[in-house]
Amino acid sequence: MRLGIFGGTFNPIHFGHLRAAEEVREKLNLHKVIFMPSGNPPLKTLDLIEASHRYTMTRLATASNVDFVVSDIEVRQTKKSYTVNTIQMLYDIYPDDELFFILGIDAFLDISNWWQPDVLISLIDFILVTRPGYGVEDILKSPYINRQSCHCEEQSDEAISSNEIFQLKSGKKAFVLEITPIGISSTEIRRLLKEDKSIKYLVPEIVEDYIYKYKLYPNGIS
Ligand code: ATP
Ligand code: MG
Repeated sequence: MRLGIFGGTFNPIHFGHLRAAEEVREKLNLHKVIFMPSGNPPLKTLDLIEASHRYTMTRLATASNVDFVVSDIEVRQTKKSYTVNTIQMLYDIYPDDELFFILGIDAFLDISNWWQPDVLISLIDFILVTRPGYGVEDILKSPYINRQSCHCEEQSDEAISSNEIFQLKSGKKAFVLEITPIGISSTEIRRLLKEDKSIKYLVPEIVEDYIYKYKLYPNGIS
């Protein structure tokens, strides 16, 4: 099977995540997309609500799609979870399957700040998706892209098209997909909630109800 791993804080999950996962699944013929909500970092990060709530909202949001599954590997860990360890665990769970790590280009440009980024890029092939503010050409800003592999030296940045396969310096591949731009972010949703504004049509209704039921992002508190 071809499996896509979609990590994130999902704080909360929104339609930008769901549509990205669906387009990636369809365009790259994945059998499943495994959503992987992150655990709780040891130091309380501003605004990051408990992992169990983020996990439950991700379960609720994906329940109606048989090709979406949610993993609790990271949320059930008490110590800090690192993506490199999670991927190694997934290879143990799915030894005969092909794994891909799905990331928005914004997140890909940040991986030099993650734990052992050189190990991470040598472990798995990536699927990188555009999002408003981050186009296909932005991946050339990453130090992990092998520029020769995409003939970037001869081409202008504009000539780089979507749905292209790039080589990472580790030898692994990065499939770059231009997807429907959906300008939704969890940051914006948290901001709206704090200001007591509507989040309708940004998240599935079941997620919206859950947020209000447990008063997850109370207004006035940051
Ligand atoms: P925050 O604003 O808290 O960072 P977020 O909306 O960026 O939240 P994350 O949980 O940080 O959501 O993102 C998980 C993954 O989903 C990342 O790889 C991110 O790039 C991607 N992603 C998030 N929102 C979108 C979107 N609207 N379109 C495409 N990809 C997205
Ligand atoms: Mg983010």
